[in-house]
Amino acid sequence: MKFIGAHVSASGGVANAAIRAAEINATAFALFTKNQRQWKAAALTPQVIDEFKRACEKHNFQSGQILPHDSYLINLGHPLQEALDKSRAAFIDEMQRCEQLGLSLLNFHPGSHLTQISEEACLARIAESINIALDHTEGVTAVIENTAGQGSNLGFRFEHLAAIIDGVEDKSRVGVCIDTCHAFAAGYDLRSEEACEHTFAEFERIVGFRYLRGMHLNDAKSAFGSRVDRHHSLGEGNIGHTAFAWIMRDARFDNIPMILETINPDIWAEEIAWLRAQQHAETNA
Ligand SMILES: [Zn+2]
Ligand SMILES: [Zn+2]
Repeated sequence: MKFIGAHVSASGGVANAAIRAAEINATAFALFTKNQRQWKAAALTPQVIDEFKRACEKHNFQSGQILPHDSYLINLGHPLQEALDKSRAAFIDEMQRCEQLGLSLLNFHPGSHLTQISEEACLARIAESINIALDHTEGVTAVIENTAGQGSNLGFRFEHLAAIIDGVEDKSRVGVCIDTCHAFAAGYDLRSEEACEHTFAEFERIVGFRYLRGMHLNDAKSAFGSRVDRHHSLGEGNIGHTAFAWIMRDARFDNIPMILETINPDIWAEEIAWLRAQQHAETNA
């Protein structure tokens, strides 16, 4: 089974995210459980939690179909202790919000060394941050997203993801989410079926599909290997339709949330319908 959806708005309350996802015929969705550009948020009230759970139940979303994303401010590999502690506290809060909402996954960007510490030191800090968060929570898996490698962001090589996982003590509660735009911008080609085979064989060899907990399906405005993070609608960017059709026909991507973060929400319903149709389409190869 393929679970397909988009990162929908939670404005007006997290329950609205489930309702908006249902409106575009999604079987998966992503959301921010708090304002992603602020450190502090009001605690979730029992009423908000209850409304969210009821909306998910009504629209048939199980926790494995929902991939919340954390705040962009958090840097779990921060070189400075005080800032690192602030990020770790905020990340624990994000994990606890997921726990309260009955969610089982939390997607986040690994972190940045800000050119002040080595890649290795930064990756070790990120793994330790995950260990601390897992110690403070139960039932929520930390899902590391690959990045485009803009600035000093780590996570743009599959080896970075593997190194972080290696440093996490509880391997049952760590996973990865592969963003196709980020992978392409980081130099993993997806422009043909052969390129997809090669890229995901690399992924299997270095990380392993057993850690795959989600996908972000985005075409790329940015050029191949540019390390620039600019999403585009499916088929309109430099990746093209082929990769997305190929992914939809591959059972290794079954039973995980597959989330559009494409730039035009007005066509999400169409993009979801197109993706769904590819599962059974004849291959051109
Ligand atoms: Zn992300
Ligand atoms: Zn993404």
